[in-house]
Amino acid sequence: MLLANIKHNDQQVTFEQAVKIGLGRDQGLFFPQKITPLENLSELLAMPFVERSGIIISHLLNGEINVADATAMIKNAFEFPAPLANVTSNIYNLELFHGPTLAFKDFGARFMAQCLSRFSQDGKLTILTATSGDTGAAVAHAFHGIDNIRVVILYPKGKISLLQEKMFCTLGGNIETIAVEGDFDDCQALVKASFEDQELRQEIGLNSANSINISRLFAQVCYYFEAISQLPAEQQDKAVISVPSGNFGNLTAGIIAKVLGLPIKRFIAATNANDTVPRYLATGEWKPKTTVATLSNAMDVSQPNNWPRVEFMIEQGWFDKSLLSSYMIDEDLTQMGVKELYQMDYLSEPHGAIAYKALKHEIKEGEVGIFLGTAHPAKFKESVENILGELISLPKELADVAGKTLLSSEMAPEFAKLRAYLTNQ
Ligand SMILES: *Cc1c(COP(=O)(O)O)cnc(C)c1O
Repeated sequence: MLLANIKHNDQQVTFEQAVKIGLGRDQGLFFPQKITPLENLSELLAMPFVERSGIIISHLLNGEINVADATAMIKNAFEFPAPLANVTSNIYNLELFHGPTLAFKDFGARFMAQCLSRFSQDGKLTILTATSGDTGAAVAHAFHGIDNIRVVILYPKGKISLLQEKMFCTLGGNIETIAVEGDFDDCQALVKASFEDQELRQEIGLNSANSINISRLFAQVCYYFEAISQLPAEQQDKAVISVPSGNFGNLTAGIIAKVLGLPIKRFIAATNANDTVPRYLATGEWKPKTTVATLSNAMDVSQPNNWPRVEFMIEQGWFDKSLLSSYMIDEDLTQMGVKELYQMDYLSEPHGAIAYKALKHEIKEGEVGIFLGTAHPAKFKESVENILGELISLPKELADVAGKTLLSSEMAPEFAKLRAYLTNQ
C-alpha cells in the first residue's frame, strides 16, 4: 500500500482511501511508506508548471493516478501562476497568492476538490474543516457549487479579519460557516472529536479538508519545484527556503520535495510568538503554550498538527534534521520586516515578512534565499496599512466581497452542539 498511518503502521491505505478518510485510527496521520527520488530532474525543471506537476503527483502516487489524469486534475486546480519575484540581489519571494482567495492554500484546496470529485461515490459527503483564516476561504471557493458535497467550516469568532471572513462566509449554497466562541485550537479539537465519532462519520460521510489531508500536501510539493525552476541555473542548488509556519503543512511539503531529489540546501521554519517548534528544536521538549493572537493570525497555532510528519521523515532517515532550523519572529520584528521590504519596493504582509526576517537572520554568504509569500498583502490590508502608514488598494477579488452580508451561525465550543448541528440538516 502507498500510505500508512504513522501512529499505527498496520493501517495501510491507498491514496483514494486516505483522501476520503482524512485522518487515520487514533488520530494518526497518513504518510507515504516510501518516497522514491525522481529521475531526470533537470529535464523536469525545464518543463511548464502544470505538466511537471502532473508528473510529480503521479510519481508520488506510485501511478495510482496516471500522468495524463494527474495532469488534467492539476490543470483544473492550478489555474494561476506561482512567480518567483526577485526582491534584492540574492533574495526572492515565491508568490503563492495569485489564486482566487489570494493565499497559498488555494493550491492544496483546489487539488483536493479535484481528488474528491474524482473519488466521490454516490453517497453523501460532508467536508468539515477548521480554519484560522485562509484555509476556510480556499476550501469554500474550491468546493462552492459542487452539489453533492456539503461543506461546514469552523473558525474562531472575532479572531480573523473581517475581510477574511467575508471571503468565505458570504457564499451560501453548499457552503456553511460557523463562528466558534473560542480559538483555533478549540475549532481543531471539535473537528478531531467529530472524526472520532464513528457513527457520525458514517451518517454524514465526514471528510476533512484542512492541512492534515494528504492530497493538499502533495499539491504543495509542486510549487517548490516551480520555485527552483525559476532560479538562474547556477543558483538552483544554492537555495535556502524560509517557510512561514503555523500547522507546518507547507514545510512538510517542502521537505517531501527535497526527499524527491529537489536540490534545496536547507529549510528555515519561521514562526510567530506561537513558537512550540523553535523551542522544541532548541530544548528537545515539546511544550505547547496557550495560543496567542498575532499580526500573522493564520499562523496562530501552538499545536501544529503536521509536525509528526516532519518527525517521521527525520526518523526514517529521509531528511537530515541538521538541515532544518527554526526561528521565532516577534511582533516588532514582523512589522520591521514589512517596512524593510517596502523600502526595497516590495509590498508584503505579516506572514511573508516573518519568513523574510528569519531568512535574513540565517542566510549565509553564497546562499540564495527564497521566502514563501503565503498571502496577498491586501488580504491583511488593515495591518499592512497600520504598519506602513499608507493606504493600499484592494484587488478585485476582495473589493467584490467587501459589500456582501455574512451568513455564519455562532456556536459554543461544545462537541454536542456541533454534532446536533451536523445531523439536524
Ligand atoms: C496557513 C497559512 C500559513 C501557515 O501554513 P502551514 O502550512 O499551516 O504551516 C502561513 N501563512 C498564511 C497566509 C496562511 O494562510
